[in-house]
Amino acid sequence: MLVLLVHDPDSGRFSAAAAAGLSEEAARTAFLPRGSQLVKWLKVNETELVVSGRRGGADFLPAGETAVLRRLGIGTCFPLSSMNRLIGILMAGGEGERGRLTREETSFISLLLPQAGIALENAILLKEQRERLRRMSRADRLATVGELAAGAAHEIRNPLTAVRSSLQYLESKVADETSKTLLAAAVRETTRINEIVSALLAFSRPAEIVRERLDLREILAESLDLVAYQASRRTIAVVRDFPGPLPVLGDGAQLKQLFLNLLLNAVEAMPSGGTLRVEGRREATEAILASVIDTGEGIPDDRLDRIFDPFFTTKPNGTGLGLSICDHIVKTHDGDIEVKSKEGRGTAILVRLPPALETDRP
Ligand code: ADP
Ligand code: MG
Repeated sequence: MLVLLVHDPDSGRFSAAAAAGLSEEAARTAFLPRGSQLVKWLKVNETELVVSGRRGGADFLPAGETAVLRRLGIGTCFPLSSMNRLIGILMAGGEGERGRLTREETSFISLLLPQAGIALENAILLKEQRERLRRMSRADRLATVGELAAGAAHEIRNPLTAVRSSLQYLESKVADETSKTLLAAAVRETTRINEIVSALLAFSRPAEIVRERLDLREILAESLDLVAYQASRRTIAVVRDFPGPLPVLGDGAQLKQLFLNLLLNAVEAMPSGGTLRVEGRREATEAILASVIDTGEGIPDDRLDRIFDPFFTTKPNGTGLGLSICDHIVKTHDGDIEVKSKEGRGTAILVRLPPALETDRP
């Protein structure tokens, strides 16, 4: 019988991640709590602990821990470490005499432990990395939606306060019970609304951006690479026209998000093909100008001033947030964004960013 316990950083305990020769029920209850003596011993001694039989002796363990080991029929516990950290415990045992490992079996397992430790560490790192990525993209989404929600929240608060104090005033004035009850319920609902609004406000944070000296050509090229597949599927020809260096001071991740949103809109505007042109140059004013130009459906004049509104979309599955995010990113970079479009002919989105100066550190 073998049980592998793995360290859970959240709870601090070691619990069963895999078991062989053990009922599912028993495996579920196989864990060692935070601060376990057995865990401490394995950490310090970095070698196996024989908990049963003549050779062994785990008298120093508290009764609770020996009871768990006895119930599971554990004979020997092996530490699994990686980079001097105890990350898992391999427990071996079984019924009666046969539960005890022979000297050969023990040294054989000990021989494999370092490799097993590394494999386990890799598995844990991979899991953590996936979790981190998942959380990160969610945080990005929340930050943007939160910002919009925060604007709405402020708008809601003032009238809500007025409504609430009026209701409270009426509640103190009316005589009949039914009206009193109804008004009290209405006051409670305003409290609820206020709580929801506060929760939305919690999402909003001042936009923090990292400013580094970047060559916008790299940002443009990387964003283009990301849409290359979608473009080729729609037989869209891609033209890259940004020959000279385009030094800007900005946040690489945000600028990439900006151009990715613009490129996706351009691709989506050309369902049956066309040309996607990306130009970059230094203007006479020294400003860095990058343009995303498509030969797609274009934008009717009367729609032009709404496309930057949050949630404005003409697509069945659109979010309408793409361009409002772009607008926000450009503003935090002290730049501006301009749209030129002809219905049925195409659209050009021009982004201007201040140039990085020679004195700006890389
Ligand atoms: P979404 O892409 O989710 O619709 P956006 O904010 O990216 O939201 O864009 C809002 C709207 O602006 C789009 O639904 C579309 O009507 C219009 N639009 C944006 N870019 C283009 C473009 N390159 N060509 C035509 N219309 C566009
Ligand atoms: Mg979009």
